[in-house]
Order: sequence, then C-alpha cells, then structure tokens
Amino acid sequence: MYSPKIKEQLIPVIYKRARREHKPMTAIINELIEESLYKTYYCRNCNNQIEAEKGTKEAYCDHCQSEVYLITSSL
Ligand SMILES: [Zn+2]
Repeated sequence: MYSPKIKEQLIPVIYKRARREHKPMTAIINELIEESLYKTYYCRNCNNQIEAEKGTKEAYCDHCQSEVYLITSSL
C-alpha cells in the first residue's frame, strides 16, 4: 500500500486539530484531501446531490440510474 509522507512542519498543526476534534490524525488528513479533491454537484435532470471529483462534467446519478450532466448549484 502506498503511504506518502506528510511534511514534518504540518504534523503539529494536524495533531492540534485532531486533539481539538477528538479524531485520529489520519481522519483529519483524509477529510482535508477529500475536501480538496471532491465537490458537491447536482444532477441536471433531477437535482440529486452528487459528490464528484472537482472539474467533473458528468457522473452517474443513482436517482436517474444513468450518466447525467452536473451543475454546480441546485435548481
Ligand atoms: Zn438525476
């Protein structure tokens, strides 16, 4: 499994946040990475909320059960 190193200077900041939020440091790091890579979009057909990689134009909508165009704000 690929285990990238976290920059040393970031560790104290992540440690403090983890203590404050009562979460493991890995949970904090994963949340930050997810926030930076994913965005909440909406299905253009049915307005269903869809989490997709930032910059994505189309994604699978569970409600429509098909590939749909995404929009950035709800209708
Ligand atoms: Zn839909």
